[in-house]
Amino acid sequence: MALSGVQIFKYLPKTNCKKCGHPTCLAFAMKLAAKQASLDACPDASAEAKQALGEASAPPVRPVTIGAGDGAVKVGDEICMFRHEKKFFNPSVFAVAIKDTEAGDAAAKKIEAVKASEIDRVGQHLKVDAIAVTEESGDPAKFASVVKQVVDDAPGVPLILVSINPAVIEAGIAHCADKKPLIYAATAENAEAMAKIAKEKKASLAVSAAGLDALIELSEKVKGMGVEDLVLDPGARKAKDMIEQYTIIRRAAIKKNFKPLGYPVISFATRDDAVSETMAASIGVMKYASIIILNNIEKWKMLALLSLRQNIYTDPQVPMQVAQNIYKVGEAKEDSPLLITTNFSLSYFIVRGEVENSKVASWLAVMDNEGLSVLTAWAAGKFTASRIAQFITESGADKSVNHKELIIPGYVAILSGALEEKLPGWKITVGPREANALPSFLKGRA
Ligand code: SF4
Repeated sequence: MALSGVQIFKYLPKTNCKKCGHPTCLAFAMKLAAKQASLDACPDASAEAKQALGEASAPPVRPVTIGAGDGAVKVGDEICMFRHEKKFFNPSVFAVAIKDTEAGDAAAKKIEAVKASEIDRVGQHLKVDAIAVTEESGDPAKFASVVKQVVDDAPGVPLILVSINPAVIEAGIAHCADKKPLIYAATAENAEAMAKIAKEKKASLAVSAAGLDALIELSEKVKGMGVEDLVLDPGARKAKDMIEQYTIIRRAAIKKNFKPLGYPVISFATRDDAVSETMAASIGVMKYASIIILNNIEKWKMLALLSLRQNIYTDPQVPMQVAQNIYKVGEAKEDSPLLITTNFSLSYFIVRGEVENSKVASWLAVMDNEGLSVLTAWAAGKFTASRIAQFITESGADKSVNHKELIIPGYVAILSGALEEKLPGWKITVGPREANALPSFLKGRA
């Protein structure tokens, strides 16, 4: 039975040291009881506490790691239903499916696409995380040869081995046992054989059943066979079923601490039509799928999906921000233009990108507005004439340039008069409202 906050509190160090991010041990205990925190956050928790708290301290969705080394990805370990309650911790893993009938050039092309999939968005590096080798041929040797091709060509990329034939999985895992792949999948028919392979090779194991009742029965059975790191597939493929079943699984784990469903979910978004595949994968990202399998990873598709994933998995209570500074864009010199924006990451990277596009070397003054965008910061009274003037004066921006002209965003044109009063001797120029107009604006001045 779940322990209350007060019962959990008795096992904590009671030093109120705040290292867990909570003001007191009691506050942390309450969060633990509500499954909104993990005991791991308390570095001083004793071994006795860890043992005594047992399931009370275990995350409601078990963490599972796929792969080994730097490329390994962790899924699960989530503690809330909605990101605004706390945050989502471990982003959905995107994996491209390579069929064993695609051995050779077709497989090589997909492997290269995975290796070249990284994009840089607001300072974060996002990429396709894994490869799912999928049995189609029924031939263990063919399957094993594609696994070997992936391991040879992309050694750091985590692997998912997809077949319900234990002989095929045995042949494939022989080439990657040290890489801790995920095996997909144990079913009612093959559970014993798959559990045996997973245990021997220390691999994680997906369990697949049509419907939640059958899935619960199967996950309990496989866990009873000694496999701890499970992943769930309730068989949902239509959008409506995905939303319904993934939500029930998450709710059962988080709200009821129902252990047979307390594992990450794998979702097959695979579709022949690329737009439908993108839509299905989007549903997975938004509705609790921890691993999402795709047929193809076109650049446009991954730009959309990786951006969506980034948005869902950032902390909604902490705006993404960059450090306050006077940034040099290009080979800026003393006579280069000086622009100002706020330190909201998206604003900074978009403005910087457009200044780079203009090929006009410039100085970009980035002011700390607690990560708010220009208009929001202005409306909140954090991007006012007085504050901007203080920042320009104290930051030493005037030492970077030999002129006294400051270009402000067009959305806050209303500040120009007040700014000229607060910054005597400075000329305030109103720039464009939208960043994408910056290249023509800057080129027009050059
Ligand atoms: S880190 Fe541990 S000891 Fe410190 S306040 Fe949190 S629960 Fe208490």
